[in-house]
Amino acid sequence: MFTIKQHLMAKSVEEGYETLVKNRNNIILGGSAFLKLGNKNINIGIDLSNLELDYIREDENNIEIGPMTTFRSIETNEILKDDFDGIVARSVEEIVGIQLRSVITAGATVASKYGFSDFITALLCLDTHIELFKGGVVSLESYLAEEKVPKDILVKIIIKKDGKSATFKTMRNSKSDYAILNCAVSNLDDEYRVVVGARPGRAVVARIENEQFKIENLEEIIKKIVDEMKFGTNMRASGEYRKMIAKVLIRRSIEELKNK
Ligand SMILES: Cc1cc2nc3c(=O)[nH]c(=O)nc-3n(C[C@H](O)[C@H](O)[C@H](O)COP(=O)(O)OP(=O)(O)OC[C@H]3O[C@@H](n4cnc5c(N)ncnc54)[C@H](O)[C@@H]3O)c2cc1C
Repeated sequence: MFTIKQHLMAKSVEEGYETLVKNRNNIILGGSAFLKLGNKNINIGIDLSNLELDYIREDENNIEIGPMTTFRSIETNEILKDDFDGIVARSVEEIVGIQLRSVITAGATVASKYGFSDFITALLCLDTHIELFKGGVVSLESYLAEEKVPKDILVKIIIKKDGKSATFKTMRNSKSDYAILNCAVSNLDDEYRVVVGARPGRAVVARIENEQFKIENLEEIIKKIVDEMKFGTNMRASGEYRKMIAKVLIRRSIEELKNK
């Protein structure tokens, strides 16, 4: 369990950011569920709960998710149930149980770039950007490509409403465990975007243009995709096993989208 010397109920994101960068042991608090698994000595825990950052809203171009939005809100939200074949909502619905999902937050998950994340895999197959208080708006793909987690505050997740059709699949050894692999595939204007996460490293993207389907068969395309991805071994599965599962999940996903 972590310890906190001081709790700050931030009055603005700016105050939160200024406090964050003053001391390396000052940190932002999301739902604190992941922090509880560790034993960090936190100097100031910066609480964003009073800043109205818990929302899911849409306009004609985008869906926006506030960083303090819980996974339970994402799972049950009407907008997310419909758009992109519901994959954003579906990506979180198997995570442990309702009590945990009612606490854990979208901003903490994405900002921390967790390799095991189901939510990040779903977001990455869509046209997703994030807004950082200091770093501004960046694509999720470029944010994940940077090894380090910046000392910044994620203030918004932005998903472009471009009409993609999409599917999300995951494989777990047991229902409430972390995924041994997850996979999301989207399709728009004949471009397939294939994302594989929990390899166990961070989710990565591969793109397939439709012309490739004419010159190669699906098995060859999938082999090429997974050969270019790294799969590692941990207590849940071997790299070799993950690679085999990846081929199956990608094939099923593409077939599902082709048949829509
Ligand atoms: C028991 C358990 C099982 C889990 N199983 C799964 C699973 O199967 N699949 C899955 O995808 N996920 C799983 N998770 C992870 C979960 O989905 C969340 O990603 C995780 O709990 C972080 O959310 P939180 O609100 O608890 O973050 P916290 O513990 O509050 O914070 C985590 C980190 O994020 C930072 N942070 C918080 N908010 C922000 C912000 N706005 N900007 C920048 N940094 C911020 C904090 O400073 C901290 O470093 C599990 C978590 C737990 C505790």
